[in-house]
Amino acid sequence: MATEHPARKLPGVDQLLQQAEAAELIRIFGRTALTKSIRLVLDQWRNSNDLTVKAPSQTIILEQAAEHLGKHDVGLKRLINLTGTMIHTNLGRAALPETAIQAMLTVASNPTDLEYDLETGQRGDRDHHIESLITEITGAEAATVVNNNAAAVMLVLNTLAYGRQVPVSRGELVEIGGSFRVPEIMTQSGCSLVEVGSTNRTHSRDFKQAIGPDTAMLMKVHTSNYQIQGFTKSVPEEELARLATENGLPLMSDLGSGTLVDLRKYNLPYEPTVQEAVLSGAHIITFSGDKLLGGPQAGIIIGRKELIARIKANPMKRALRVDKVTLAALCEVLKLYRNPDQLSHALPTLKLLSRSPQDIEQMADILLPEFRQYLEKAQYQVNKIQLKSQIGSGSMPLDLLASWGLSISTEANKGADQKLRTLAEAFRRLPVPIIGRIHRGHLLFDLRTIFEPTEIRQQLSLLTI
Ligand SMILES: *Cc1c(COP(=O)(O)O)cnc(C)c1O
Repeated sequence: MATEHPARKLPGVDQLLQQAEAAELIRIFGRTALTKSIRLVLDQWRNSNDLTVKAPSQTIILEQAAEHLGKHDVGLKRLINLTGTMIHTNLGRAALPETAIQAMLTVASNPTDLEYDLETGQRGDRDHHIESLITEITGAEAATVVNNNAAAVMLVLNTLAYGRQVPVSRGELVEIGGSFRVPEIMTQSGCSLVEVGSTNRTHSRDFKQAIGPDTAMLMKVHTSNYQIQGFTKSVPEEELARLATENGLPLMSDLGSGTLVDLRKYNLPYEPTVQEAVLSGAHIITFSGDKLLGGPQAGIIIGRKELIARIKANPMKRALRVDKVTLAALCEVLKLYRNPDQLSHALPTLKLLSRSPQDIEQMADILLPEFRQYLEKAQYQVNKIQLKSQIGSGSMPLDLLASWGLSISTEANKGADQKLRTLAEAFRRLPVPIIGRIHRGHLLFDLRTIFEPTEIRQQLSLLTI
């Protein structure tokens, strides 16, 4: 008797869509996407040449459709960052403290007094909620907040220097990555850059010579992602601020990372603080909310009252302003800075950066046998290894933090690199992807970010290699 092809027994799309299991999938992915995905699965069964396979049940078809939808679902995925770079721009930078997350939830799900004055019942100012907190912590006269630090820099330049000249040291014409480069930001903001000094040495007299009738302000850029070493000279901020003031000009200082605490207190390398920049006399200072500060993506602009007022009046401010969710989170993060003694527990970024190597080594000891259990049978060697974590986001690139992790290699003579890349890919394909880095024939997992082994353990059990 001729075997009947299983395709003949396949159910129709409409019939499948009416199943109880389909209702839930429609709720999550939508009817259109589910219909498409069911068709795809049915086609696969229909095109199968294997006549011995049994026709799939409706449940199996729907499961396969769900799996396909899950794989191709849109939206941000959470993942585990074992790259060794703590404030990783591509991985979303800072994780926020619990208080910030609660505040985000509250304002996201309810109306709020974002721009409403509860006392007068009149329209309010969204910066109002945060300005006093920022000035209290930094010592600046006034403050405003925009979408990110790149926006902060553009807004300041566009407000205070549109159509005019801004001298910057040749040693500070930085590129931050992506498309943020000082010369280009300057052009896009409508200003002309006047290069001053040389790559390694810039003197006060270089700035003096550059100042003319068209000069709008002086600018200092913190070279956060590189250092010029050797025969070098840059003009200290105090001196530059004095020179600017003498010429009736403002000095803008783009700090980039902008830490609000002296990191040496937490056994971390020194990074100029925002407070120091204020004390040095800079008239306008910009810094990121989600680099060393450990908050949500934002750009913070602080400085002299009359300058901040002009910046806030620029129509571009409206285009660059932050939303209520960001504002709520930033407020809560800033409040933590009122208690510096608690900060290394309360602020996830600082907790990561100040974690002791001994503590990380313990995690490596716990996870080593687990990784071995899953990887040795596939001919991978796993070892505990001393590593150096990077702070990331261009912060202090030369200062590395002692850390521990696991190093995976393969003995395969041929195709070792490919085998390692395949393994890295398998880790990235996990339900909660685990991201490491490949370095000189080893797949490295820096465990600084792992405080508790359960989730890694679960993911390891799901690894398919
Ligand atoms: C990071 C950085 C920026 C850009 O900040 P984002 O928050 O990434 O927009 C600008 N200037 C400096 C000096 C930086 O380090």
